[in-house]
Amino acid sequence: DSVFSNVDRAPEDPILGVTVAYNNDPSPAKLNLGVGAYRTEEGKPLVLDVVRRAEQQLVNDPSRVKEYIPIAGLADFNKLSAKLILGADSPAIQESRVATIQCLSGTGSLRVGAEFLKKHYHQSVIFIPKPTWGNHPKVFNLAGLSVEYYRYYDPATRGLDFQGLLEDLGAAPSGAIVLLHACAHNPTGVDPTPEEWEQIRQLIRSKSLLPFFDSAYQGFASGSLDTDAHSVRTFVADGGECLIAQSYAKNMGLYGERVGALSIVCKSADVASKVESQVKLVVRPMYSSPPIHGASIVATILKNSDMYNDWTIELKGMADRIISMRQQLFDALKAKGTPGDWSHIIKQIGMFTFTGLNKEQVVFMTKEYHIYMTSDGRISMAGLSTKTVPHLVEAIHAAVT
Ligand code: PMP
Repeated sequence: DSVFSNVDRAPEDPILGVTVAYNNDPSPAKLNLGVGAYRTEEGKPLVLDVVRRAEQQLVNDPSRVKEYIPIAGLADFNKLSAKLILGADSPAIQESRVATIQCLSGTGSLRVGAEFLKKHYHQSVIFIPKPTWGNHPKVFNLAGLSVEYYRYYDPATRGLDFQGLLEDLGAAPSGAIVLLHACAHNPTGVDPTPEEWEQIRQLIRSKSLLPFFDSAYQGFASGSLDTDAHSVRTFVADGGECLIAQSYAKNMGLYGERVGALSIVCKSADVASKVESQVKLVVRPMYSSPPIHGASIVATILKNSDMYNDWTIELKGMADRIISMRQQLFDALKAKGTPGDWSHIIKQIGMFTFTGLNKEQVVFMTKEYHIYMTSDGRISMAGLSTKTVPHLVEAIHAAVT
C-alpha cells in the first residue's frame, strides 16, 4: 500500500478547470470563454512579432550564457519595469526609493510581496475586493496574512459599489494592507473613475492603510500603458509608500515565461535598499533566483526604442480587438432583442465581462450550447471572435428567456 493512500483527490482549480472541461467536450461548436489569455480573431494564441524578434536577437548573441542570474533578477529588467509602471519621470525612481525584484509573473510577485509583509510589516490584515481574482485569497492566506473583504461590485448596477468600498476601507484597522487592481478589475471589468481613485487615495492615506497594487493588465485594458498606470502613479506622486506586483503575461503575451516584478516604493533610498536586502531573503529559500529567458525578452524590448514602439502598437491591437468584441456582442444582443440592459458589456474594461448571468444560466449554456465560462458568469472577451458572437448571443438569449 502507498504511504500516500490517504491522500484525497483535490478539486480542479475553478478557473483552470474550465479549460479542462472544455478540452473534454467533443462538440465542434464548443467555445472556451473561461481562458484568461488573448486569442486572435481565429481563436489562436498569439506570440507578438516584437517578442519573436527579441528572441531572435537573444539567440544570435553568442555572448549570452545560461548562468544563474542574481536573486533579485536582471538589473536592467528591474529598472525598466519600475520605469514602465511609475513613468519615466518618476521622482521615486530618480530618488532611488524603489526596490524592484524580478519575480515569477504576477502571482509570484504577489506572493513574494505578501511573504515580505508578513515578516516585516506591523499589520497582517489584507483587505481584498469582493469579488476578486480567485487566487488572491489563497496567495495571501498561505503567506500568513489574514484576508478580509471590502465591498466593490454592485450587482444591481453592474458597476462599482463606491459607497460600500469607502465604508469598508474607512472601517479597516489603521495600517491594514489594501489590495487594489491597478486597472481592468478581474473578474468584474469595473474600475473606479479618476475622481473615485482620488477619493480612495485620500482615504487610504488618511487612515495610513498600505496599498498593494496588482497590475496584471497595464496597456491591455485601454490600449495605453500610461492610462492604465494612472491609479498607481497617483499613489506614488503623493510621496507615500506602496507595493506593486507587475505581470508581463497579458501585455507582452509572455504567459508561460512567468515574468513579472515586485516593486516596493519607500520613503527613502536607505529604506528601499534595506527592504530589497530582506526581499532577497524571502526569495533565496523559496526558488533561489528567477528564470533568465522571459526577463531578457522584456529587457530587450523595453531598452530599444524601435522595439518598444512596435510593442505599444501590437499591444493596442490586442486591446482594440477586445474593445471591438464588446461592441459587437452588445450590438448583437440588442439586435436580437434579448431582454435586459446589456450596456455593462461596453462599459466594463479589460479582458473580461462580468455578464450578470447566474450559476444556473452558466450551467445551461455549457450543457446546451457547449460554451465554457467560470460559474460567476465571467466571460473572456479575448476568447470571442466575430464568427462566434452569434452562437454566444443565441445561448445568452435562450438562457435569459
Ligand atoms: N492578478 C490578476 C488580477 C490576474 O487576472 C492575473 C492573471 N489571471 C494575475 C494576477 C496573475 O497572472 P500571472 O501570474 O500569470 O502573471
